[in-house]
Amino acid sequence: MTAGAPVAPRPFADPGTWLARAAAATPGGVHSPVRAFRAVGVEPLAIASGHGARLRDVQGREYIDWIGAWGPALLGHAHPGTVAAVQEAAARGLLFGLAALPEIELAERLVARTPGCEMIRFAVTGTEATASAVRLARAATGRAHIIKFAGCYHGHADGFLIRAGSGAATCGVPDSPGVTAATAGETMVARYNDLDDVARCFRDAGGSVAAIIVEPVAGNMGCVPPEPGFLAGLRAWCDESGACLIFDEVMTGLRVGPRGAAGRYGITPDLVTLGKVIGGGMPLSAFGGRADLMRRMAPEGLVYQAGTFAAHPLAVAAGLATLDALDADPDFHDRLEQHGAALASELEAMGRRRGIPLRVQRVASLWTAFFSAGPVRSWDDVAAADSACYARFFRAMLRQGILLPPSPYECAFLSAAHGEAELRLTLGAAERALEELAA
Ligand code: PMP
Repeated sequence: MTAGAPVAPRPFADPGTWLARAAAATPGGVHSPVRAFRAVGVEPLAIASGHGARLRDVQGREYIDWIGAWGPALLGHAHPGTVAAVQEAAARGLLFGLAALPEIELAERLVARTPGCEMIRFAVTGTEATASAVRLARAATGRAHIIKFAGCYHGHADGFLIRAGSGAATCGVPDSPGVTAATAGETMVARYNDLDDVARCFRDAGGSVAAIIVEPVAGNMGCVPPEPGFLAGLRAWCDESGACLIFDEVMTGLRVGPRGAAGRYGITPDLVTLGKVIGGGMPLSAFGGRADLMRRMAPEGLVYQAGTFAAHPLAVAAGLATLDALDADPDFHDRLEQHGAALASELEAMGRRRGIPLRVQRVASLWTAFFSAGPVRSWDDVAAADSACYARFFRAMLRQGILLPPSPYECAFLSAAHGEAELRLTLGAAERALEELAA
């Protein structure tokens, strides 16, 4: 089999009926809530295949994809090097549950390029990585409270589902039922980009803050960049209080620059979590940090964390292929930066010409179209943006074959596979969609 060659799909009687069958078997018909498209008022898509920046749904319609698998698809879909690496690894056996050589290389290469990460441990999902990092921070400090930011999302562990972004915000359940009051009480919530609010949390906690966990570029309430001084201020608070600074780089790692957000902004965390891109589309996450902290993990220390599927050989193979592709192309991130900048400025200019308050916020290849007159600096601003207008924009784009994130609270993801044609088609469709909005 050639890497990336089409493979005959498993037969499914009458694909047009997929949603009814799915909804009978699964809540909402989907296995992750945002896939249901409820925030944009259209039926969800079921995808048959994807190549480069294009997806094909089960009815055979093609789309230019801006969802990018919610982040992992930095190289585009079915990237030949990644697919070949996974196929080769699969042929050697899927899973052994013991150490292997490729995971050592991947660990070394990630440690070498991730600021603050002297040692690393692989897991499977971002949810596990953040939960483990917080457990480690609590163990190291002997304290209970964590500070998170409204609109940030760190996976679906109980303690993070407090004013959470991403699908939780999209579905109107940022504080999920089922999280006990005791657990919720250990999570303090501050406003993003607001150091005074962080000071308030430290005052209220009275010396019991184990960690600040932050998306160094918020991507789960749409793209909200850190303002100058914000991350440095968090670093200073942690230095002064002895709390751990955890950068959740599950979305930003390898994406906002070769050394992630920590490298881009020059702030070094105590612990970092990675996911998405590091597995090249396969399930792989990691947490890492200062060696003295990481050595507290079992079996060297007493903090427990484990996984049947941790450092899965296929995921490690895809991760190595992804790093190979990035390392083979020194201009990789600069090119994405340029494409992203051009796209964002053209879109904003289109909005201005029509008197539509369209604000495109972007960091590298992460971007969001907010229908907001002013800058979007925190969840309060995100919530005040016009989500109904976003839904209309989404639908007008979808009709033209452009698939934006089906939620005003999710980033769009530019990939290396979005070439001139995809950018031109997206801008052309946006011109017509905005015209429709203005009418
Ligand atoms: N942290 C961040 C910053 C994320 O964006 C996500 C997923 N969107 C997670 C954690 C959770 O990762 P996963 O979905 O792999 O559990």
